[in-house]
Amino acid sequence: MSLNIKLNENFFNVKKSYLFSEIAKRVKEYSEKNPEKKIIRLGIGDVTLPLPRVAVTALKKAADEMGSAATFRGYAPEYGYDFLREKIADYYKRFSVSRNSEEIFVSDGAKSDVGNIVDILGDNEILIPDPVYPVYLDSNVMSGRKISLLKGTRENGFLPMPGSTEKKPYVIYLCSPNNPTGAVYSREQLKAWVDFANEAGSLIIFDSAYEAFISGDYPHSIYEIDGTDSCAVEICSFSKTAGFTGTRCAWSVFPDKLTVGDTKLSALWSRRQATKFNGVPYVVQRAAEAVLTDEGIKECKALVEYYMENARIIAAALKNSEIEFVGGENSPYLWLKCPKNMGSWEFFDYLLESAQLVGTPGAGFGEAGEGYFRLTSFGSRENTLEAAKRIDALFGKN
Ligand code: PLP
Repeated sequence: MSLNIKLNENFFNVKKSYLFSEIAKRVKEYSEKNPEKKIIRLGIGDVTLPLPRVAVTALKKAADEMGSAATFRGYAPEYGYDFLREKIADYYKRFSVSRNSEEIFVSDGAKSDVGNIVDILGDNEILIPDPVYPVYLDSNVMSGRKISLLKGTRENGFLPMPGSTEKKPYVIYLCSPNNPTGAVYSREQLKAWVDFANEAGSLIIFDSAYEAFISGDYPHSIYEIDGTDSCAVEICSFSKTAGFTGTRCAWSVFPDKLTVGDTKLSALWSRRQATKFNGVPYVVQRAAEAVLTDEGIKECKALVEYYMENARIIAAALKNSEIEFVGGENSPYLWLKCPKNMGSWEFFDYLLESAQLVGTPGAGFGEAGEGYFRLTSFGSRENTLEAAKRIDALFGKN
């Protein structure tokens, strides 16, 4: 017998996420028909290199502490251990940003924070870039919010700006470096968004999950821009920087000055986390702490550099093939225009059939992604070199 309860019907409005299952299905069909062909996957957004050594050492040490009555720990504080909150506050000093450890809330992932922040916000109008990480859109559709999309196009460098947007109190999502396009906002561009938000009383939710991949003169944190404390939450993660996709640790910054009337957003977030979240494991927080030591940061830089060398290898093959692309300079993602005006899925099939290469169709990141394709530099060096060779062989001009 069926239940008689009411469901959150907004869930019926969430587009079925068939992107990665459809990719898996097409790859499986192809490999069943062509078992002798070696397929190379440059589609995933997951890392492949192991954890930094400092993180593993810290994990082992913390595990030993958990095994001894004198040093055992139970529930972790909901907002994170002070040792990690302080370390994260210290990390911001590298960008000349001054943050108080009490403004930092440790969590089990940027995805959780991006998805959960909707809990503390009312029925606001939402501005979301397109294409972008799909969680912003889906979590707001699940909550029945009114959403407007900000198109990222080749003309605006895939970096939508406020332009003539009416000054209203929106909740605005910004992702820089952007997944999937790899585009990064400059200081001037972020300043324009911050000015817009402050004038309109809007909130910016700034996702800096890929900040560690920035090598040029771009802001790593939105708090590098003046006036941001009154308008922005920042969400960052250890996932891509330190290979924590399976280890799980991230943080959000709720500045003390971020208020609606007399209410601090940090107070609502504290309440939300204390009610619905029981903290990140002690061992994981110790590993995260180790990652933010000088030695840890050095190791993470080496991981990032490995992936960025992969990005340069792919970029060289695309250039030689005269395939238009952006990204790959301050981000592990390369965003290319499908050759011969092919659609995203058409190009996916073409690349799979002709070169046994798997990427991600841009259409999976929003309507504006149609006709584009994402390649990632998170593969092994060997696979990346082979992929570049195949791109050259298929499209290369020299
Ligand atoms: N934000 C962006 C832009 C991402 O691309 C991803 C993962 O791919 C996340 C957040 C999720 O990060 P986490 O592993 O910390 O949940």
